[in-house]
Amino acid sequence: MMTPTRPQSITIERAAGVMIITWLDGHRSEFSLAWLRAHCPCATCREERREAVLAADPLRLTASPPPSTEVVDAEFVGNYAIRLTWGDGHIAGIYPFSALRMSCPCVQCNPDGAPPLIVD
Ligand SMILES: [Zn+2]
Ligand SMILES: [Zn+2]
Repeated sequence: MMTPTRPQSITIERAAGVMIITWLDGHRSEFSLAWLRAHCPCATCREERREAVLAADPLRLTASPPPSTEVVDAEFVGNYAIRLTWGDGHIAGIYPFSALRMSCPCVQCNPDGAPPLIVD
């Protein structure tokens, strides 16, 4: 068993639109809030992304206002994840730390760009 990936601290800088996680091993990951919202791991958003890909209909994508990328609240879920509350009231997304660490956008972790948080 691997030691669970745990953050030492999490800072959400709303003005800059980023969430910064400092991990217990000292590594630092900086996620853009827009990216986190685009990769919301909840069942509803995953389903919507699947349908958008299947429909490939640009009108459908612009018909509703874009989802909020503003975080109004954040809380720990047990010791394995963080739940983000977005400005439009969406609260279903629970972001596991292990997935966040694997999707760290720094060049050291992912030289070819961050992989999707959750494979849809
Ligand atoms: Zn969602
Ligand atoms: Zn990294």
